[in-house]
Amino acid sequence: MRTLVESCFILDTKTIKKDLHLARERKSNIEGYINVTQGNVKSAADYRIEYGSEYDYLVIQYGEEEQKIRITESELTYGPRSWFICSCDRVVGKLYLPINTNEFRCRHCHKLAYELTTLNKKSKIGQYGYITNRRLKLMNTREKIRTIIYNGKLTERFNRFLKLSDKAGLASNREEAEELLFVINS
Ligand SMILES: [Zn+2]
Repeated sequence: MRTLVESCFILDTKTIKKDLHLARERKSNIEGYINVTQGNVKSAADYRIEYGSEYDYLVIQYGEEEQKIRITESELTYGPRSWFICSCDRVVGKLYLPINTNEFRCRHCHKLAYELTTLNKKSKIGQYGYITNRRLKLMNTREKIRTIIYNGKLTERFNRFLKLSDKAGLASNREEAEELLFVINS
């Protein structure tokens, strides 16, 4: 069985948003820590920002070894934002740490699957039917949308689709769209 995204600790660019912002301004001595929860184990990971000639890095220490994660930035509609570059070269907003691992990598590298979040929480068959139905409808909608990006931006229609996806617990749709936008706009 594949490990589920939801069971991993997630390092989100949003978690260290302020420090990434400072990094874009090339401030010195940026460091901090994040609380890491893996299953029942709670601990902390120290991090600092290191500037390089080609890339800047988030150097994170979880366990014995340090991991250097490349950082890159992009100019999106709502202003600049930073991204992680996984060791597989994918540009991502989130890196994952499954239980019993100590390396932050993207969901592709860790071969993670998305849990049908809402299904597990609400066990009633009625709920199940409702949600499945909604997802199926969404999938059909997705197939009908030909243009998802226009002029470097998500189209209105696709944006609406993403909002519905969020509501239906299909976070993967938005994550993939954001990553795609990054590639197109960089
Ligand atoms: Zn990866």
